[in-house]
Amino acid sequence: MKIQVLILALFTLVPLLHAQEPHDQEKEKIPGPHKGKVVEGSDYHMEFLIMPDRKAAFYFYDDAMKPVAPGSYAVDLTTGTRAEMKNLPVVADANRLISEGTLPEGSENFAIIQVKPESADSSKTFRIRLNESSCGSCDFLEYACICEGH
Ligand SMILES: [Zn+2]
Repeated sequence: MKIQVLILALFTLVPLLHAQEPHDQEKEKIPGPHKGKVVEGSDYHMEFLIMPDRKAAFYFYDDAMKPVAPGSYAVDLTTGTRAEMKNLPVVADANRLISEGTLPEGSENFAIIQVKPESADSSKTFRIRLNESSCGSCDFLEYACICEGH
């Protein structure tokens, strides 16, 4: 009788323990419609993309990933290594925002992106490492990779 109770207790505990594993807390990554990195803001999504000419492009979407005009979002872009960062002006370009300067090359660079929607009081900061090697496990480059745990 005691053994049966113990076995029952074990079976009850296993699913509970499993649910507490840390990877369950990680949000599912959204694949960028332009193969860029999708980050989530208050009530918007933003896709950050390194263009072939090394300019940075920003696309905006609503909660359901439906494209929205970028006009009401102010983006401040700083890029470089930890030791040396520089600010790149960002301007509107049809359905997206785009940087006037180009992103630096090399895997030690970061993009620090501050986004402020017109309707919000404060901005949100996103930090993306500009790793442009191929992931190998998905069709995206490392900075935009959608694999779990990367
Ligand atoms: Zn991947």
